[in-house]
Amino acid sequence: MALETKIYKNLDPKEIAELGSRLRAGELVAIPTETVYGLGANGLDEEAMSRIYEAKGRPSDNPLILHVPDQASVTPLVKEISPTAKQLMDAFWPGPLTIILPKSDNVPLRATGGLDSVAVRCPAHDVCRAILQAAGVPVAAPSANISGRPSPTTADAVYHDMAGRIEAIADAGPCEVGVESTIVECGDDAVTILRPGGITDAMLRQVVSTVTFDEALSAPDVAPKAPGMKYKHYAPDGVMTTYVGVPKLISEAMIEAMEAIQKEHEELVSQEGKTSIAKPLRFGFLINEEVAQFLDIYLADLPVPFEFVIYGNAADYRGLAHSLYSSLLAFNEAKVTHIFATGVPRQGLGRAIMNRMDKASGYNVVNAVPKRD
Ligand code: AMP
Ligand code: MG
Repeated sequence: MALETKIYKNLDPKEIAELGSRLRAGELVAIPTETVYGLGANGLDEEAMSRIYEAKGRPSDNPLILHVPDQASVTPLVKEISPTAKQLMDAFWPGPLTIILPKSDNVPLRATGGLDSVAVRCPAHDVCRAILQAAGVPVAAPSANISGRPSPTTADAVYHDMAGRIEAIADAGPCEVGVESTIVECGDDAVTILRPGGITDAMLRQVVSTVTFDEALSAPDVAPKAPGMKYKHYAPDGVMTTYVGVPKLISEAMIEAMEAIQKEHEELVSQEGKTSIAKPLRFGFLINEEVAQFLDIYLADLPVPFEFVIYGNAADYRGLAHSLYSSLLAFNEAKVTHIFATGVPRQGLGRAIMNRMDKASGYNVVNAVPKRD
């Protein structure tokens, strides 16, 4: 039977205390963080965490991140905190950095997908930390969406996927960063990035000498060290293509693709006649200002209806990170059949963004650069 999903919007001390008690008692509560909305459950309660997997349809070997309000709350969850791990916490917590550490016996295997390590993070979001403090237990929280779909960055998006499946949502407005945390494994004065995120390799290099990326991030045939990285993620309903390169050439490549899609659709409809089951075309654009300028005139006469998001200029990585999931979800709502997006160079935050865009588009990336002859 569907649950009643209560939405908390005041988030005053009384509501925070109530949300904390709900979590402690084993209920599912969606919580805001600076990255995306999390689907929270008591991280010491196996049954509560099983309900996360059920509500999301999440593969059971995909471990959870335990969220804590401060560094001190990590101690009971792990065998030890190495000097490097401590340095990372000092430098980047609260913030979008998840650290993998050897787990203690207090942490149930349900939280770790059976692994003997545990992922911990302290979010940079005041409401979130207040709820974690009130809960008094670590809170396991993957993104609050159905597995495989774009992650929610607003409480509305959480409600869309999770209404009737969870007890409560804490609505603190849109999330700031928009892409998930960086996940690292620690060595001695060294880290390996298992998932790129808001804390970049350059930022990590300011604290530890050696920063490397898990090989699996650039070699699709290598098994990733973070189990979740092997699954399909962030996929919108429409066919998505990500374009990188020179703005004018990107716009030309997009126009060529739109022409081909329209032609193919017309042929399908004329073959099938009135009984055609071909879905009506609708385009979605998630693009930078530079490309938008080149597309302007073409779009003015486009016979296909479309949705349009300009996230900022080509160098606005933060704007893209912030708009990515919310735009993909808006395109789903509008029944967009084809998505045309501009990407960014794979450096700094661009690595995290392109990692998500690669997955969202099924690695459908067009490199629009001048041809060499
Ligand atoms: P999310 O689904 O965004 O909450 O991220 C959780 C991800 O963290 C999982 O999908 C894993 O890939 C990764 N993760 C969690 N725990 C571990 C662990 N003990 N070792 C390696 N990766 C982990
Ligand atoms: Mg997720």
